[in-house]
Amino acid sequence: MTLIVHDVTLTYPDGDGRLTALDEVCLEVPAGTLTAVIGPSGSGKSSLLAVAATLVTPDSGRVVVAGQDTARLGAAQKSALRREKIGIVFQQPNLLASLTAAEQLQVMAHLSGRPSRQLRRRALELLDAVGLADKADRRPHQLSGGQRQRINIARALMNEPAVLLVDEPTSALDHERGAAVLDLLVTLTRERSTATVLVTHDHTHLERMDRTATMADGRLTHAADPARVPGPARVPAP
Ligand code: ADP
Ligand code: MG
Repeated sequence: MTLIVHDVTLTYPDGDGRLTALDEVCLEVPAGTLTAVIGPSGSGKSSLLAVAATLVTPDSGRVVVAGQDTARLGAAQKSALRREKIGIVFQQPNLLASLTAAEQLQVMAHLSGRPSRQLRRRALELLDAVGLADKADRRPHQLSGGQRQRINIARALMNEPAVLLVDEPTSALDHERGAAVLDLLVTLTRERSTATVLVTHDHTHLERMDRTATMADGRLTHAADPARVPGPARVPAP
């Protein structure tokens, strides 16, 4: 199991008391599969991704990424784990205005110490995978919203993450472009064997998912639809 969130509770300060954003949440995501998380605004979906990304430490419970129990790691080890194993795609692409598409990806992996020629090659390979091979030298203002979101996704894959966490990637896109971004996420998850969690508000996406979980008031419930749960034979673990 590539991503394990076990019995996680997360609270935030709230006036005199505390607000429970995650309430004993469990989630397990095998390599090469997608789990959708749906639920109303404020129910805790982004908090779940933040905990899974090790950006936020929960009050209790465990997060295990690619076999590493994150509770045992210090801050430096945690950021190394995040850099090497976790790809994060936020709602807004947050691309740097002055960089070309290829450079957006290259800066991401710069810290890994690999030679820049190799990074350039990998950036171009990923831009090709997201259908933007011919846009490598464009800057963000020369790209559409859908193209920027594709770059955002390609950038998250630059370090070959085991876990891919995606927060409402299609909310700024029209339906057609949203569906194309979803297709891309499904394909990349299978091809690159990522354990992918996708927060989405668009229920037309759900039939493409392996599993769907619903968040309500910080509690996560899993759909009991065995037809959607892939067996180990369909998606071999790496
Ligand atoms: P969703 O992504 O489903 O909209 P969030 O995880 O963003 O939900 O938020 C869950 C709850 O936690 C909400 O009530 C929100 O107001 C609260 N919350 C989120 N982040 C913080 C924070 N950094 N500090 C305090 N409260 C927060
Ligand atoms: Mg959110």
